Amino acid sequence: MNSRLQTEYLRAMGIRQWVAREAPACAEEGRVAVEHPGSGRPGLKIPVAAPDWNELQQQVESCTRCALHETRTRTVFGVGNREADWLIIGEAPGRDEDREGEPFVGRAGRLLTEMLFAAGYQRKDVYIANILKCRPPNNRDPSPEEVACCHEYLEHQIALIRPVLILAVGRIAAHNLLNSDLQVGRLRGRVHRYGERQIPLVVTYHPAYLLRSPLEKRKVWEDLQLAQAVYRDHIAGITDN
Ligand code: URA
Repeated sequence: MNSRLQTEYLRAMGIRQWVAREAPACAEEGRVAVEHPGSGRPGLKIPVAAPDWNELQQQVESCTRCALHETRTRTVFGVGNREADWLIIGEAPGRDEDREGEPFVGRAGRLLTEMLFAAGYQRKDVYIANILKCRPPNNRDPSPEEVACCHEYLEHQIALIRPVLILAVGRIAAHNLLNSDLQVGRLRGRVHRYGERQIPLVVTYHPAYLLRSPLEKRKVWEDLQLAQAVYRDHIAGITDN
């Protein structure tokens, strides 16, 4: 049996798999790491056995891996349907999210909710997470170190959700998920693949950008239509078999 299949079986049986590996740079000392089956980032190591939702949430809430824990009010784990087909990934909590502990609840968040509604989804239908679980002071861009420290949490969420589609909203999400530095305008309009499972990934503009540039809303609508088409193809593929 290949190791990926074995991992899937073990997970389906509720058995946690432990694999000794070198710890990532920001891991706490003395922890071992397991390379997550969903991870498409070469060399990315994830510490300790793949946790379940409760463990993962506790790990995030008590995380001190980077300096952002010193300035955060609350961690922002993620929200929505843990079995969602659509996973929305944004950048990092802002002031409102830091206060409330929920992603995308400020002005930009309300616009994201409207965007999703236009695509036929309510917030409770999808899962919403961020690249970072803690707010960078003054909403500055996340540093590469902060992203590296936080990435395992997102990887675990992706592996637990097993989404059919990832919608990366904004530059920071797109760049970090695709390991690219192309402008969002160059990344949108096509279907990318994420991780070993080759999850279809569509890039669109961040709602905060749309608040500043409302004329770009038409492009976001096109991106959502692309995402819907990818999703419909997936469903049709399942029902054809
Ligand atoms: N912007 C994001 O990218 N994520 C949030 O949760 C809020 C604002």
